[in-house]
Amino acid sequence: MKLIRFGEAGKEKPGVHIAGKNYDVSGFIKDYDEFFFAHGGVQHLGWMLSQHEAMLPEIPAGARIGCPVANPSKIVCIGLNYAKHAKETNAPIPKEPILFMKSTTAITGPYDPVMIPKNSVKTDWEVELAFVIGKKASYVEASEAMDYVAGYCLHNDVSEREFQLERGGTWDKGKGCDTFAPLGPWLVTKDEIANPHALRLWLKVNDQMMQDGNTDDLIFNIPQLLSYLSQFMTLLPGDIISTGTPAGVGLGFNPPVYLKPGDVVELGIDGLGTSRQNVIAYARH
Ligand code: ZN
Repeated sequence: MKLIRFGEAGKEKPGVHIAGKNYDVSGFIKDYDEFFFAHGGVQHLGWMLSQHEAMLPEIPAGARIGCPVANPSKIVCIGLNYAKHAKETNAPIPKEPILFMKSTTAITGPYDPVMIPKNSVKTDWEVELAFVIGKKASYVEASEAMDYVAGYCLHNDVSEREFQLERGGTWDKGKGCDTFAPLGPWLVTKDEIANPHALRLWLKVNDQMMQDGNTDDLIFNIPQLLSYLSQFMTLLPGDIISTGTPAGVGLGFNPPVYLKPGDVVELGIDGLGTSRQNVIAYARH
């Protein structure tokens, strides 16, 4: 199944994407939140669709699409998880996964604009495969980790490199700005993706291909990451884990290339759809 959320930011309703069309399921499901994933919501949704699919109202074309998960407790990201990307940033290949947190207030819809933060000069792009936690995970073995995954979604881990790398401390400063986490369009349930470790992922800026990688190049795979993270924190249903970006970010160019107002970023992953963000200048809101 492909889960979507639609409507005004902060007031999204749940829906599903079937054969190119979006349908409203808010008559049956409250939202795709922690409670939904923790209480068999995915199975319930599947059963409901098998009974009532024909009578679901279609969502009007042009309706805004939001992040497919409601109010995740956290977004945890993995740094330098593709060897060529580590090389382009002049960083060594990590011996253990590098973790950082991305603020949940950065979450935005897949077609919403990305706003360059106040005083930013190095706003950059990162196409990533994200996975969504399906049940509470603490000290999970890698061999059992896939039981804790609900599904997958496309993520642009937008990053401000000066804030991230030149302002001291951890990377989090450059990762959590408003609009820095376009997620979706879909949460694709685990059963639909036969092998999450063989997916092409790509990103274009102004129609020019910048990143063109494959998740078969991940240094640490999904079971390893989930198990590893669960040694340091409890992962709750609905939490989003972003697995890192392949080579081709703006920082890696010589000289580096960063986003500016008017740029258009498009990205996609096999089976997980595509997203598109217009880059806009900072404005108080
Ligand atoms: Zn990233």
